[in-house]
Amino acid sequence: MRVLVVEDEANLREQLAAHLKADGFAVDAAVDGEEGLYYGREYEYDAAVVDLGLPKIDGIEMIKRLRGEQHRFPILVLTARGHWQDKVEGLEAGADDYLAKPFQMEELMARLNAVIRRAAGYASPVLNQGQLQLDTAKKEVRVEGTAVELTAYEYKVLEYLMLNPDRVVSKSELTDHLYEQDFDRDSNVIEVFVGRLRKKIAPVDFIRTVRGQGYRFVTEAG
Ligand code: CA
Repeated sequence: MRVLVVEDEANLREQLAAHLKADGFAVDAAVDGEEGLYYGREYEYDAAVVDLGLPKIDGIEMIKRLRGEQHRFPILVLTARGHWQDKVEGLEAGADDYLAKPFQMEELMARLNAVIRRAAGYASPVLNQGQLQLDTAKKEVRVEGTAVELTAYEYKVLEYLMLNPDRVVSKSELTDHLYEQDFDRDSNVIEVFVGRLRKKIAPVDFIRTVRGQGYRFVTEAG
C-alpha cells in the first residue's frame, strides 16, 4: 500500500512516515499543500494522511482540488484539537475520516487501514475469499483455517491483490504501490514473489496470470 503524508510539522511528519514504513507501507511525505497536491496528482495512492493547517495551499483546498480532478484515494485528515469545524469542513471537502491532534499512532493506523479497506468495499478487517482468509489487523493469512507463513513482501502482494479484486493489476502497478521510489524495479522480482505466494496458499487458486498484462485476483462474485 502506498500512502501520501502531508504534514508541515517536521517531527510529526517524520514520526508518521517511520510508523507507516514499519507497518509495511510505502510512503511519500510532503511538507506543504503545494507539494502534497503535486504528489497527489503525480502518483496513484492507496490513501493519504493530510494535516489541514498547511503552508502555501491549506489542506481543505488541496483536498478539494484533488477530488475535483477525480483523484479518489481515501483521505484521513488531521485536525487541531478543539476545532470541530475543521472536521466538518474536511469531510465536506471529500475526506473520508478525521483524527484530532494529539493522537495515538495506533489509532491513526487503525483508522487508515479502515478507510483503505472500506474504499475497497470490505466492511471487516478480515478479508475472506473461499478458504483464504487475510487479517489486515494482525497481518495473518490462513488457508483452510491453517496459518500460512508469508514474508512481508508476499503478504503485501496478497493484500494488495485482495483489496483490488477482479481487475488486472500490472507488475508496474504492484511495484508502484509496494515499494519506495528508490527500489530496484525489476519485474522478475514480482514474478518470483507471486510464484512463491501461489505455492504457499495452495490449494486455493485465486491469483490468475493475465499474459503480458499482470495478475487478477478472481473472487467468487467476480
Ligand atoms: Ca500544520
